[in-house]
Amino acid sequence: MTSALLPTYARAPIAFERGEGAWLVARGGERYLDFGAGIAVNALGHAHPHLVEALTSQAQKLWHTSNLFEIPEGERLGRRLVDATFADVAFFANSGAEANEAAIKMARKYHAVAGHPERFRIITFEGAFHGRTLATIAAGGQQKYIEGFGPKVDGFDQVPFGNHEALRAAIGPETAGILIEPIQGECGVRPVPPQCLRGLRALCDEHGILLIMDEVQTGVGRTGRLFAHEWSGATPDIMSAAKGIGGGFPLGVCLATADAARGMTAGTHGTTFGGNPLAMAVGNAVLDVVLADGFLEHVSAMGILLKQRLAAVQDRHPDVIAEIRGEGLMLGLKLHVRNAEFAAAAREEHLLVIPAGDNVVRLLPPLIITEADVAEAAKRLDATAGRFAARLRGAAA
Ligand SMILES: *Cc1c(COP(=O)(O)O)cnc(C)c1O
Repeated sequence: MTSALLPTYARAPIAFERGEGAWLVARGGERYLDFGAGIAVNALGHAHPHLVEALTSQAQKLWHTSNLFEIPEGERLGRRLVDATFADVAFFANSGAEANEAAIKMARKYHAVAGHPERFRIITFEGAFHGRTLATIAAGGQQKYIEGFGPKVDGFDQVPFGNHEALRAAIGPETAGILIEPIQGECGVRPVPPQCLRGLRALCDEHGILLIMDEVQTGVGRTGRLFAHEWSGATPDIMSAAKGIGGGFPLGVCLATADAARGMTAGTHGTTFGGNPLAMAVGNAVLDVVLADGFLEHVSAMGILLKQRLAAVQDRHPDVIAEIRGEGLMLGLKLHVRNAEFAAAAREEHLLVIPAGDNVVRLLPPLIITEADVAEAAKRLDATAGRFAARLRGAAA
């Protein structure tokens, strides 16, 4: 039967009915170990009791009021995020792309209210991904997302990843800021070295421009810190987060210093749905867990364990797995075999992983995984790699 949905996705032929922790249960009852977490979204796994309780109890009281009224749960979530980060203010949206749109507008407005409306250009990096709106595809700069959608939104200058000369040369009198993912996600889990983030901070200070970090995928505990930039000691002026922050409820946020946000006065930006009471109740519940004592240490410990187990799998299958990279529970396997085929083979082992650029598959498990889950994933990855090793041997014979 043909689908009534716009065919913009090549979907795997499988539908899930329910989830429990790190496991998804398909319609037929088969259980899958979920090391994709809905693309780093289900940070606390599926059907986490604290999130279910927060959502259902809020659902019986109030879902939506609009931002024309005060939203106490939003005040509380904003305050907690501000207290836990570099930021002074928060703007809630519904997605990563919208959080980035707010960040981009904020950076432009910052210079405009300082008498420099000509400073509107933002420098981004090759391989970046910032979303699928017209501005964020221009920011990401990937031709496959831009092509056919009319003139590319102006104001984004892309430089090669890791090329300091090109970066310096790109800063001009129209530059408003630099936008970067601390670890490029969609491009294949490419970490930015900590000294480079510190270098970017210094460069922005030197030129009076803003450092914007896109932590939509890396944030909310994913790397073992609340936000990935904390590993470097460099702080942004503006930061977006989404994915894990709602634990599966659509939620994004743009966080900023008071100075960076100075242009964003009443009426300059808005959203109908963003920050509604239902979203805020869930967001607070996610933070309850992520900020609890020992949670981030657990993420780090599981990340180290997973990396060790992956190294052992790679040792056994060096002709399948080329490289392991990433931080915490945001790991990538660069492969010698095709990543989409590897992900499909892993699915046959009832393990879910997510393809990314650079022929990588990403492992983005729920942050609540246990040692047993790590062992199980390693076993299934070993079996997956074994399928290819057998094929490669067959081809060689
Ligand atoms: C997923 C992602 C986005 C876009 O988020 P949406 O919620 O899909 O709009 C932006 N930036 C990064 C780094 C992402 O990983």
